[in-house]
Amino acid sequence: MCSITQIRMIKDSIAENRCEQLAVSGVQSLTPYQPGKPISELARELGITSIVKLASNENPLGPSPKVVEKLQQELTDINRYPDGSGFELKNALASKLKISVDQITLGNGSNDVLEVIARTFLAAGEKAVYSQHAFAVYPLIVQAIGALGVCVPASDGTNGPCFGHDLVAMAFQASDNCKMVFIANPNNPTGTYSNDQSLQRFVDAIPSKVIIVIDEAYYEYIDAQDYPHSLALLQSHPNLIITRTFSKAYGLAGLRVGYSVSSAGVAGLLNRVRQPFNVNSLALAAAHTAVNDADYVQMSKRLNKQGLTQLSKGFEDLNVDYISSVGNFICFNCGHDNASVFNRLLTKGIIVRRVDNYQLPQYLRVSVGLEDENSRFLDALKTVLQSK
Ligand SMILES: *Cc1c(COP(=O)(O)O)cnc(C)c1O
Repeated sequence: MCSITQIRMIKDSIAENRCEQLAVSGVQSLTPYQPGKPISELARELGITSIVKLASNENPLGPSPKVVEKLQQELTDINRYPDGSGFELKNALASKLKISVDQITLGNGSNDVLEVIARTFLAAGEKAVYSQHAFAVYPLIVQAIGALGVCVPASDGTNGPCFGHDLVAMAFQASDNCKMVFIANPNNPTGTYSNDQSLQRFVDAIPSKVIIVIDEAYYEYIDAQDYPHSLALLQSHPNLIITRTFSKAYGLAGLRVGYSVSSAGVAGLLNRVRQPFNVNSLALAAAHTAVNDADYVQMSKRLNKQGLTQLSKGFEDLNVDYISSVGNFICFNCGHDNASVFNRLLTKGIIVRRVDNYQLPQYLRVSVGLEDENSRFLDALKTVLQSK
């Protein structure tokens, strides 16, 4: 109930146009997520049409033709609400992943699932742990709830790859009065991953009252022999939640579909908290088609592998340091000039991503594109670096 004084204070702050101060304190100190610059925006600014966007880790192949065909059939039904249970998509995922349907929670992109997880398990004042240089969405959702984010310094190469998660230090923090821990595997923007042994040790060390979130947004791209089989850990670790997405290798970033796999008990909770129709009908139909479109994912994987090789070799030829990546992107070192390199690439119609907000002030991140897009980027980078 509001007291007269409280009502007066609220009225005053509205009158003085200080509504911002009405926001809960965690929200007031939020730094907004910075998305990659859209092609249309750069086109407006520079009046150029030939633009290569390598800024948001999107699939450069374009959507699968099978998905486009399915979407055309679905269009005539958009007067209906979507299937709120996601029956067909969940069944397709369950049989592909050899899990049970009731272990799945669908979301409006995996970001939505991550937020639902935080809202389900984290209360204001509780502690959540993530790594330095880790995906920017974790601190955002933690802070919005008023929970306390603890950022653990990245590995120096002793426990895990340089710039990657230090799972030993993270286990230490996560065992100390903590509610949730986020592991990006591989991490964006560094492209580093935690291997099976280190992840096994980590999950074994974490108390069962701590929710462990493993974000596998780039799962489909990874071939490394020692990449963890995280789903196999679910049996013995009911506090584990694995998130994946259709935004990257499946090429559906614009439609927004992601999911988590967990114990049925945890999924039951998440499904109570999520919005009833959080995944729209076009997204459900497209993702269902995409799950069974193995050729498209294979093609995306092959293209990405060639692109990673092309970009790495390009950086080596230019004597540019980069962080070895298993994702569909690479961070490269521009020294103290990263802002100016970023801007000069823009004037050449190349959009990459600044990662200053990830405490990587000397780096830029480039997503793997088509072969000629990668070449255009490398040529532009060469010109920019030579004219320094
Ligand atoms: C791209 C990305 C996601 C996926 O986000 P969606 O909401 O599924 O599009 C999740 N986690 C990480 C680390 C990512 O880089």
